[in-house]
Amino acid sequence: MLTKNIAKGNTLITSPEVHSQRQLGYYHCPQESYNGNQMSSNSAHSPDRYIRVAIPTPLRRLFDYLPPATPVVPGSRVAVPFGPRELIGIVLSVETSTNVPLNKLKPITNVLDQVPLLPEQILELCQWAARYYHHSVGETLMQALPKKLRQGKPAFYGTVVHWFATDSQLERPSPRSKKQLAAFELLASNPEGISAAELKDLGFNQNVLKELEKKGLSRTGEPTPQPFTDVKEPLKSSHLHLNEEQAHACEVITSGLGSYRTFLLEGVTGSGKTEVYLQTISAALANGKQTLVMVPEIGLTPQTVRRFRDRYKVSVACLHSGLNDGERLQGWLAAVRGSAGILIATRSGIFTPLPHLGLIIVDEEHDGSYKQQDSLRYNARDLAIIRGQQNSCPVVLGSATPSLETLHNARHGKYTQLHLTRRAGNARPPTMALLDLRQQTLKDGLATTLLEKMAAQLDLGNQVMVFLNRRGYAPTMICHDCGTLIDCPHCDAHMTIHRNPPHMHCHHCDLQQAIPWQCPGCQGRKLQPVGQGTERIEQALGQHFPNYPVLRIDRDTTRKKMALGTMLDEVHSGRPCIVLGTQMLAKGHHFPDVTLVAIVNADAGLFSADFRGSERTGQLITQVAGRAGRGDKPGQVVIQTYNPKHPALQLLATQGYNRFADSLFAERRHLNLPPQGHLALVRTESVQPQESEALLMVLRQHAEQQGDQVRILGPIPAPMEKRQGRYRWHLLLQANNRNHLHHQVSAMVNYLESQRLPRQLKWTVDIDPQEMS
Ligand code: ADP
Ligand code: ZN
Repeated sequence: MLTKNIAKGNTLITSPEVHSQRQLGYYHCPQESYNGNQMSSNSAHSPDRYIRVAIPTPLRRLFDYLPPATPVVPGSRVAVPFGPRELIGIVLSVETSTNVPLNKLKPITNVLDQVPLLPEQILELCQWAARYYHHSVGETLMQALPKKLRQGKPAFYGTVVHWFATDSQLERPSPRSKKQLAAFELLASNPEGISAAELKDLGFNQNVLKELEKKGLSRTGEPTPQPFTDVKEPLKSSHLHLNEEQAHACEVITSGLGSYRTFLLEGVTGSGKTEVYLQTISAALANGKQTLVMVPEIGLTPQTVRRFRDRYKVSVACLHSGLNDGERLQGWLAAVRGSAGILIATRSGIFTPLPHLGLIIVDEEHDGSYKQQDSLRYNARDLAIIRGQQNSCPVVLGSATPSLETLHNARHGKYTQLHLTRRAGNARPPTMALLDLRQQTLKDGLATTLLEKMAAQLDLGNQVMVFLNRRGYAPTMICHDCGTLIDCPHCDAHMTIHRNPPHMHCHHCDLQQAIPWQCPGCQGRKLQPVGQGTERIEQALGQHFPNYPVLRIDRDTTRKKMALGTMLDEVHSGRPCIVLGTQMLAKGHHFPDVTLVAIVNADAGLFSADFRGSERTGQLITQVAGRAGRGDKPGQVVIQTYNPKHPALQLLATQGYNRFADSLFAERRHLNLPPQGHLALVRTESVQPQESEALLMVLRQHAEQQGDQVRILGPIPAPMEKRQGRYRWHLLLQANNRNHLHHQVSAMVNYLESQRLPRQLKWTVDIDPQEMS
């Protein structure tokens, strides 16, 4: 969504002037006033205090109100009149003067928190982010709050039902029910209780718990939080014995506790980065400090959380999109009130107040999900660094395939680089081979040579993983008579065929239609699927290997909460099988019995319109390859490609990710692209094809008058110009100096805000864009 110029309730705000006078009926407080400029004092009758409030509107300024009868402190929520509505805002400061005329000032109607909900540090972090991303402070602050608090609900632990083990040892669950025994043991080792939702994540449904309850072995109740510092012996199970590299990394990071420094922990897949995290967390806990562990969206699997909970008695809180609003509030409060010693969170968790924060870990720092792609387009990885500086604590960026930005900072000495070059335990690195598809007989996109290799591994009792980053049955249908492809009516994209249930689906606008039986071009009856998606490969593999199960893991097969867990359990059983999946498979999973990884199509990303396409392909291939040979058995990776001579792909396969990254650096330097130069992207979209382009044209002319320190490219149509019925255009800003870039963006945003634009025409600004889509 493009929220920058859409107010809540879909009122389009064209200019601040219109907004303040016509729609709201009172004057705004310009942003300068909180910077300390242009202060003006009021008449003798004026009150001695004004409350400066950040309000969730797209307007990039703060608003002054008259104080309520009760005292009000910065960081607390207040209800205020805003135009015809009442909104919840956050108090930023109490001022002694305002430049809003007295008769326009309105009083705060309600004070929701007697004590600050957000501490000074989070207020500062959000204001920093608002400035850096050229976004409204009020909307930015709302990112820091769980939904229930945004809605004005009280900041109390709700009544999320928790399960506890009872003290009764009279009767143990029947050993025939392994599930009950496992559930009981889990509850017994978590005396603070576990929520039903979390138990479900961990594979225990209500029935199992109810059965335990009947036997008098479990009970429900309210959680009983206690400060994490009260837990005298934080470890539940002992740490592993670290190898030399791990021990060194751990020592260096630990010795840095108490001051800011960023570390890049570059460890090949399976090298034991998580073990290093766990042991540095111990050091933080020993100092009475909390740790914030950031993980990618897909990386936050129940398995990840379980690994932390199995190790620590200290309470581990979680914040991710799979939780309901009550659970999120619960996790947030556990972190904020200091009952959780560890917070594991996805992107938005970066804004969570942690009163005793002493260590920040960003796992898989290269992951695209750290960048928010709408509203406030922040990068949680980058904000982690700001937070570490603010808070004087170390920040650990971990990855097997660091982003070029992070590698650049490490190579220039801004970050301290730590290496884990060997796999932990007995595991050895996999061998990688490019399989030239041009000389191969293909069966549903799979080369005969590959099928033979798979058969050999399966017959040895091993597991095989097949990776294809495209879900559905086939990318589209083609008419055998006239060549017409089935396209989405609202997007410049084909409709994907799905077989289960049978339908056509546009993955860009979500449109779903019946599978056509007639060509829309020539009315012929010869429509055929073209290309492969995971469903089709699943079918092909099932036919080719009837004696082995094929487990398809993608967004369609894992919609139900338990589904992924059940499939992963099957993989972890170690029985020979084929695991087939999309990028969901690339992250975090540890499959010790997989000995062969096949990448069905390496070419798609290499020739993408996005300059980061190769980087992402290299990361994905390396991460997927990292799933092979993680146990005692050696692993091999087969990469199918029509371009076996592609220089970057060859470097990746023969020399590894770092040499591959070197070749990308050279390319980026040459083109002045990040990490060499800095980028900002202005996007426009409209239902009128010309409007989007025209606005950017004007913007370009306006910018050209500002000087030439910032290179301006465009307007150009977005790679998919039409999406969801809207025409999208780009203006790209490129500069060697960040200040120049921000200066230019400020000027543009001010200009755009001063324009009265057609209702349907939307614009957004993206600083450090990750996707050029
Ligand atoms: P990464 O996060 O780098 O991919 P993990 O931390 O998941 O790697 O470790 C991979 C496997 O190696 C895990 O099963 C882990 O338990 C094991 N492992 C890690 N460190 C050690 C160690 N020092 N000794 C033995 N096994 C280890
Ligand atoms: Zn569409």
